[in-house]
Amino acid sequence: MKKSDSLPTANALQAAHLIERLGRLMRAGDHAAGLNPAQAEALRYLARANRFSRTPAALADYLGSTRGTVSQTLISLEAKGLIERQENARDGRSVVFALTKAGSNFLRAGPDRELAAALDRAGVAKDLADDLEAGLRAAIAARGGRAFGACRTCRHFRRDHHSGAAPHHCALLDEALSETDQALICAEQTAA
Ligand code: SF4
Repeated sequence: MKKSDSLPTANALQAAHLIERLGRLMRAGDHAAGLNPAQAEALRYLARANRFSRTPAALADYLGSTRGTVSQTLISLEAKGLIERQENARDGRSVVFALTKAGSNFLRAGPDRELAAALDRAGVAKDLADDLEAGLRAAIAARGGRAFGACRTCRHFRRDHHSGAAPHHCALLDEALSETDQALICAEQTAA
């Protein structure tokens, strides 16, 4: 029997079921706020992604969805006034999306904040975040998907490699990176 075919442990199965329930809580909160799950995930992604990754193509990869479905999701969010399209400075044939002020305000009261506050109250946030990140990486690797990890953990991230006014640098894209950029997620991120 191959390793990937072996039965999961009881702990791993329980963890998978708990993750499913946590996800359901988030989705219930999204529905109550007037967004379907795809719209809510897209909005949260655009809030966390860097300027190279806020394209429809990167969002489709992140959600594991088709370009057509993602396009409909983005049109709905635009119609609600939560996001706006901008010129893509790196590719004139494509656009990038950014949250509007209304979109940022919407997220400040989002169900992810409510869930995060509950995790803080339970005193499990730090360990849980580390463990879930490791679990997510393993699950994505098994499917051959992109990690979309934080910029500062990327092999191409050059800390304090000054380039103009920005403190950091991306060796892959040859772009300056700010303090804010280093904490954002990126479609091109490769673990160091
Ligand atoms: S250093 Fe890596 S994660 Fe950061 S912008 Fe460059 S490719 Fe993306």
